[in-house]
Amino acid sequence: MTAAAESTFTFEGRFARELAELAVPWQAEEAPEPQLLVLNDALADELGLSPEYLRTPEGVRLLLGNHVPTGATPVAQAYAGHQFGGYSPLLGDGRALLLGEILDTEGRLRDVHLKGSGRTPFARAGDGRAVVGPMLREYLVSEAMHALNIPTTRALAVVATGRLVRRDTMLPGAVLARVASSHLRVGSFQYARATENMELLRRLADHAISRHYPESAQAEHPYLALFEAVVAAQAKLVAQWMLVGFVHGVMNTDNMTISGETIDYGPCAFMDAFNPAAVYSSIDVGGRYAYANQPVLAEWNLARLAEAMLPLFNEDQEQAVAPAVEALGKFRGQYSDAWFGGMKAKLGLAAGPAEGAEGDEASELVDGVIALLKDGPVDYTQFFRNLAHTARGNSRPARGMVLDLAAFDAWAGRWAALKPDPVQMDRVNPVYIPRNHLVEEALAAATEGDLDPFNRFLDVVRSPYEEREGLERYTEAPPEDFGNYRTFCGT
Ligand code: AMP
Ligand code: MG
Repeated sequence: MTAAAESTFTFEGRFARELAELAVPWQAEEAPEPQLLVLNDALADELGLSPEYLRTPEGVRLLLGNHVPTGATPVAQAYAGHQFGGYSPLLGDGRALLLGEILDTEGRLRDVHLKGSGRTPFARAGDGRAVVGPMLREYLVSEAMHALNIPTTRALAVVATGRLVRRDTMLPGAVLARVASSHLRVGSFQYARATENMELLRRLADHAISRHYPESAQAEHPYLALFEAVVAAQAKLVAQWMLVGFVHGVMNTDNMTISGETIDYGPCAFMDAFNPAAVYSSIDVGGRYAYANQPVLAEWNLARLAEAMLPLFNEDQEQAVAPAVEALGKFRGQYSDAWFGGMKAKLGLAAGPAEGAEGDEASELVDGVIALLKDGPVDYTQFFRNLAHTARGNSRPARGMVLDLAAFDAWAGRWAALKPDPVQMDRVNPVYIPRNHLVEEALAAATEGDLDPFNRFLDVVRSPYEEREGLERYTEAPPEDFGNYRTFCGT
């Protein structure tokens, strides 16, 4: 029976084959007592992987990398990266393996990747393992991001290994099966560039074009077009993070994809109260990756990508710089357009022109709402949702959240004159996000073996825009004693 199920899908080893210099064939560590904790049936179906098969003992072993299916060639990927501004020439998958790619039911090539699958040659001092809490955290937050229409890697499954892993205390080990349109990162290009093998760098760029931006191949300068496409994708992505109050927390160049998908949900968090300086990661002591810094840091990372790709733009270094600078120069405008357009949608305003009197009025209203938020502690998510009630004639819920009532009334009067559409607002302003205190509560229970709170929360964040009765506690700001929330990288 399992053989029949396996014959319905085939893994490809395209990355391993085309970019062998970046791929170290490796095997996952054997798990003593596997237990499937959560499986994404819809995503499995999308991949043509039958959920029934994945629930069999062999399927669970596949999700751990212990059963290697036909065509799969598990590899650890090599990459470099700037971590908090400092360059590491060799990072790579220290505790992860790319199992291979699968052609999904819509004809898209998707990576299946395992995180927590044991030490690899890139593990350095790490133990190669991952634990249940942080893997479920990535599962929950990445599924929430997907439901918020934000490009992201997806979570296919979390399997507990049955092994205890040493962290501050002994914690249950787990492997996350992750799906992505690829795992190519800015750091992959930095690594290839550092080898000084220009043919490899070109092959990597060709692979990226073919998988993500095939239209670039038709451009006059395909590699410049590839770079421009990454700039545009990241500008849009980071604008979307900002619009929902997402703080990634570890925007190192090895954690920035070429595809424009959000990757690596280690120390991330959604802000509760609006705060441009919001930082959650315990290791981000300088606040490098604070909420408001994210666009600037994305641009900084893209400059590192440009440096790595420079020899592809022109054989003459001098001549390569000007087009790279020009392409990177588009980031700010693209980011601002995406963010401003998104803010107008959050305020229920028609797309309209960005220029002229109408554009100026919208721009002042956007500035005005940010000023109101900055003034308070105001819960970011609740405020926009409540503002739709103002548009429906009941200003109490939103007005009650701000300190300066006169400022709110003046702002709301101008805003109402533009006839904001509350239905449009409810389509883009989520009611439910993965609030930190609820994430912690669900993960603590799961670590103790009770998955019910996790599964309930997962169900809630998968429909973020539709308000449902009985789910009030999921909309509430954290209790006062929740304090300064801290997240951890060494997961
Ligand atoms: P991150 O910034 O969390 O994506 O990780 C940075 C680097 O550390 C990557 O090369 C990871 O593979 C590696 N790493 C993180 N945790 C471990 C671990 N427990 N064992 C081995 N390598 C790890
Ligand atoms: Mg990473």
